[in-house]
Amino acid sequence: MSSHLPKELLSSLEGLPGYDAAAFEAVHTAGPAPTSIRINPAKPPAVLPENAVPVPWSSSGYYLASRPSFTLDPLFHAGTYYVQEASSMFLEQALRQTTDLTRSLRVLDCCAAPGGKSTLLRSLLSPESLLVSNEVIRNRVSVLQENMIKWGAPGTVVTNNDPRDFQRLENYFDVIVVDAPCSGSGLFRREPDAVNEWSPGNVQLCWQRQQRILADCWPALRREGILIYSTCAYSREEDEDILDWLMMEFDATSCSLQLDPEWNIVETRSKKGGYGYRFYPHRLKGEGLFIAALRKNDGNSFAPPRKLNQPEKPSKKELETIHQWIQPASSLALFIHQEQVHALPESRLVDIPILQSACYLKEAGITLGQLSAKDFIPHHHLAMSTMAHPGIPALSLSREQALQYLRKEDLHPGTTHRGWVLVRYADHNLGWIKVLPQRSNNYYPKEWRILKRE
Ligand code: SAM
Repeated sequence: MSSHLPKELLSSLEGLPGYDAAAFEAVHTAGPAPTSIRINPAKPPAVLPENAVPVPWSSSGYYLASRPSFTLDPLFHAGTYYVQEASSMFLEQALRQTTDLTRSLRVLDCCAAPGGKSTLLRSLLSPESLLVSNEVIRNRVSVLQENMIKWGAPGTVVTNNDPRDFQRLENYFDVIVVDAPCSGSGLFRREPDAVNEWSPGNVQLCWQRQQRILADCWPALRREGILIYSTCAYSREEDEDILDWLMMEFDATSCSLQLDPEWNIVETRSKKGGYGYRFYPHRLKGEGLFIAALRKNDGNSFAPPRKLNQPEKPSKKELETIHQWIQPASSLALFIHQEQVHALPESRLVDIPILQSACYLKEAGITLGQLSAKDFIPHHHLAMSTMAHPGIPALSLSREQALQYLRKEDLHPGTTHRGWVLVRYADHNLGWIKVLPQRSNNYYPKEWRILKRE
């Protein structure tokens, strides 16, 4: 069977290291792409799916024997794992091999929606590290926000900014990840319809946009900071040529990464000697990817803006209320923003006004809930985190009840508790219900509710 891959793409790949025209075309007609998931180390599911096989370059990725309906798995909605194709998980190697992850870092994921790389970064960074997950396209921020909320880690901020806005944070970040919008040829096996959108003209538009994004966020990287650049495109213009452009335009050193030969990842060298890593679906179990890491040689230390508005802190009385909802002895700073109480690692509170001076913050830390005159209204984000107070009443649901809850249908839980109750499935929180004498109200976010039936 012949593939429907664009002829101009195939001829442009001739001669690239690791490219084998026959094997490459064959793999695109050989059936479905492998399915893989990455476990959330902060709230791992108790058991792995049957016959799960580790992704060799990842500490938490697994191939599944078949593709289940993730929508109908309550543990997916509880944020215990993320569905991610395996090549992308190599970001772990690029980060571990270039960066001391025991340190408290400031990391920007510049093109973050829907959140695959951001959830991975979050799992790799120390709890005190700050992750800024940014997405410029407004209607893609909500899915990023949803995935980061489900991942449940406190040191994350979600922003909705153009990369150029980060120039206001000169020398601020220790690591910047640019998983750039690209011509997408690396995903043709998984998304065959994307073939119709590919053209040499689009490749050109993409590399121009990639240069612009990189030039825009480069000043925000500190001296000796690491830039990780990736695409899911095979075209040299978007990969090695971008690497050359970066090395010509900026004072940067390309980083070589250690590979296990059994991984079958191809190391390529750009014309200027930069190291790039190519993933081909005919060589390994994963989709097309290019990734490279560079160290910045110039720049200065970060100078925070002089006048910053400090975040509003809760009063003593408010703190008493809030502490009934969160784990005792958690070393978190609390602040109030737009009437909601937020929590984030103590040492990161200083970053909030700095970020606010440059960006539009969609989410900052864990949103705990809203203080009102009589009550505290817990936020879904608190349920998704691991910081809810262990004394909060909780109710374990069957799978059927859990799906009812996730569809935002009425639940009739046989419980004697009244008021706010956490609903759980297989020991993982799904969200809140409020139990009243005659009924209970389902507080699952309506925009997240599942529509699918079995
Ligand atoms: N990193 C994501 C993940 O792992 O889930 C995937 C990112 S996707 C390859 C590229 C992202 O860049 C998209 O979310 C897209 O909306 C965003 N984007 C598009 N145009 C952009 C631009 N001009 N500047 C920055 N980001 C852009």
